Amino acid sequence: MDTPAKTARLFDYPVHLVSLPQAKAVVEESVRTQQNLQVVTLNPEMIMQGDQDPELGRILKSAGLILPDGAGLVWALRKHGHAVNRLPGIEFSEALLQWAAEQGLKVAIIGARQDVLDLAIQNLVQRYPNLQITYAHHGFFKPGPEEEAIVQASVAAKPQIVLVALGVPRQEKWIDQYKARFQGATFVGIGGSLDVWSGLTQRAPGIMRRLNLEWMYRITTEPWRIKRTYKTLPLFVVKVLLAGGKA
Ligand code: UDP
Repeated sequence: MDTPAKTARLFDYPVHLVSLPQAKAVVEESVRTQQNLQVVTLNPEMIMQGDQDPELGRILKSAGLILPDGAGLVWALRKHGHAVNRLPGIEFSEALLQWAAEQGLKVAIIGARQDVLDLAIQNLVQRYPNLQITYAHHGFFKPGPEEEAIVQASVAAKPQIVLVALGVPRQEKWIDQYKARFQGATFVGIGGSLDVWSGLTQRAPGIMRRLNLEWMYRITTEPWRIKRTYKTLPLFVVKVLLAGGKA
């Protein structure tokens, strides 16, 4: 697959400066040429985690398509002179599902609680009636034989799009470990997207999204995130400011 045209670098992390149509075009080309493409929807928390966890760091840096998802990431990139807009992972993934439904491509979804997964699929199929979800499994399985059975069944379902919602870093590592066993599939780690599609969790109101404040909405509505965000975000800001123009 060709590397997307514009690639910025933040510390050692590449970020592809693509719009939604450009990102979709990369996936279309990759599916057409039957390659296995890993998509990462990057945010500052992931960068800070990647610095502590070399395996995650390697995966984040080597993914075929790395999207600027986090508001803090967009802020840092703009600070270093890159004209970039946020591309939320959930919007990208939903665009892929719509495209898959139009093209008759097969989709596998792995992750989230069983009730969340069921509701999300019900809503997605209602929205995109031609959507073919040929494999789905909840995300609370054990490593070993149970996980292997899930991998085998998902490969056998021959999906072209595989959405994995196991949280960071587990979803990125799962994709990295198993993607070579599929034939021409695009993989996206989708975090909490199934929770939103299920209707059990809301996205931030439009005005907050436009102001790049979706992260603030999430920590207000899911307070357990505060500890995680405040442990990483200030450090990320300091890292960016200290790096000056050299990040
Ligand atoms: N999840 C899962 N298995 C696990 C841990 C998490 O399926 O062992 C699911 C969880 O139910 C949720 C998603 O993974 O649907 C992670 O969402 P979160 O918003 O925490 O993702 P992150 O903030 O890490 O992107």
